[in-house]
Amino acid sequence: MKFSELPYKRPALDPIDEKYASLPAQMEAAENLETLLSLLKEFEAFVSEVMTMYNLSYIRHTVDTRDAFYEQENAYYDACLPYFEQLRNEICRALTASPFRRELERELGPAFFRNAELSMRAFAPEIIPDLAEENRLMSSYQQLMASARIPFQGQILTFPQLSPFKESPDAAVRKAAFTAEGTFLQEHGDELDRIFSQLIQLRTKMAKALGFQSFTDMAYCRRTRSCYGREDVAAFREQVIRHVVPLSSRLIEKQHKRNGISDAHVWDRTFLFPSGNPAPADPPEIIFRKGKQMYSELSGETKEFFDFMLKGDLFDVLSKDGKANGGYCTELPAFKAPFVFANFDGTSGDIEVLTHECGHAFESYRAMRSMKHIFQCEYTMDIAEIHSMGMEVLTYPWMPLFFGKDADKFYYSHLSEALRFLPYGCMVDHFQHIVYDHPELTSAQRHDAWLNLERLYRPDINYDGIPYYDKGGWWQRQLHIYMHPFYYIDYCLAQSAALMFWQAAQQDRSDAWTRYLSLVNKAGTLPFTELMRSAGFQSPMEDGVIKSLADSVFAYLEQMDDSHF
Ligand code: ZN
Repeated sequence: MKFSELPYKRPALDPIDEKYASLPAQMEAAENLETLLSLLKEFEAFVSEVMTMYNLSYIRHTVDTRDAFYEQENAYYDACLPYFEQLRNEICRALTASPFRRELERELGPAFFRNAELSMRAFAPEIIPDLAEENRLMSSYQQLMASARIPFQGQILTFPQLSPFKESPDAAVRKAAFTAEGTFLQEHGDELDRIFSQLIQLRTKMAKALGFQSFTDMAYCRRTRSCYGREDVAAFREQVIRHVVPLSSRLIEKQHKRNGISDAHVWDRTFLFPSGNPAPADPPEIIFRKGKQMYSELSGETKEFFDFMLKGDLFDVLSKDGKANGGYCTELPAFKAPFVFANFDGTSGDIEVLTHECGHAFESYRAMRSMKHIFQCEYTMDIAEIHSMGMEVLTYPWMPLFFGKDADKFYYSHLSEALRFLPYGCMVDHFQHIVYDHPELTSAQRHDAWLNLERLYRPDINYDGIPYYDKGGWWQRQLHIYMHPFYYIDYCLAQSAALMFWQAAQQDRSDAWTRYLSLVNKAGTLPFTELMRSAGFQSPMEDGVIKSLADSVFAYLEQMDDSHF
């Protein structure tokens, strides 16, 4: 079946059908394992239905945020999903307290109970109205950013439509694009600040109600981090400051020199090469045809997956009016189908949709077919982003297909951006620790905190001349800060893991692929550090790992001749 033909039906969540609402009590009363497992199966069918319909509605809503039907459906889930979460919580409670716990552990794997205990701590029925309000506030942020109409050089553009201009070889065009963006944010600054302040107050209130010191602690539970805590994350950031920031600054210095720029500004950082940034030359149809070739040559598993995606029309990648910003991969469990959403803009980012989002989709495609329980398809985002970022580096040999003679340029920019990302990612994480540990900060103080962190993580950035950004407003472009608090360190850990896969592939490509596939196959069964170990890698949080990784990427870039780029 094609995506457009998939039927949508709103699941009953308010109130939840008695058949499902009574499951926790029935589970508690179950007299044998067999009964308990069949009740669990019933619940899993309901999870599959709700997730499928919610994601289907979410996709159709983000594809056209002006569609009144799906806007209304989206509002329904914002208000009612917390009831579903409550039911899920009661089920977890029943399973955790079950006299058949040991047998269940064997059936579901140990990760399930570890995660269930953490997510139970981050939920109580009293916070349901707050969760609904949190959803509503996040949607209002998303709506505001998606509805942005930015006047630029006689045209009216959305954020994604503006991005290619930020990479233009012409400095005046780049500066104008940044200025247009900053001006839009400045005009909506009060609203952006208001939404964020409300989110902080609300999240803090929920955390206190659950007995946490701050929302930070609640967020670690919510994100089911079972193998590291905030001290480990702080130590990781410290390593990045010490060992990556100086190398990143040297790469940027080299870039400005290559481009003949002496007085560099923020708009010069996106311009990597005098001959222009590497970009695919082909229209989207050809990109997809080449993608099909790439995945069929990479492995039998990826060929089967990509053919399935194409046959089902499971991509929506063209940028158009009313479409939400960004890119994501989600899944429709009832149809065993992943879905990829993106906004193609003619930059190298389009190819990364094909590798990054397809890395997510590949894992999801496999897990939906191989895992016995839907709970075993769940894992933390540090793991999920290894699937995607790992795929980005393991598909390197096919980049000449897309970039032709610019492939070397692509490798250079992709690897140097991977290194440069780590300071930025850690800064976003650090910022969130500050604002949630100090919910009393005013909006102006938060903007100041951002500027202070810039000095620590990106000491070479110069915002002079760009409205709003020069006052510390850059972070409001970062959707995750509003929508997915504390997500960013997951990217940093996964980026480090992906670089380890890159290192491994330098030694032995087929061994690296085998280790990737084994990691993908085990995704929902082990926490991050154990999963890394199972694929034969250290955790990037271990002392010295980041330094050696950063040094080796830097050395590789140094031996590339960037003078002709
Ligand atoms: Zn991703």
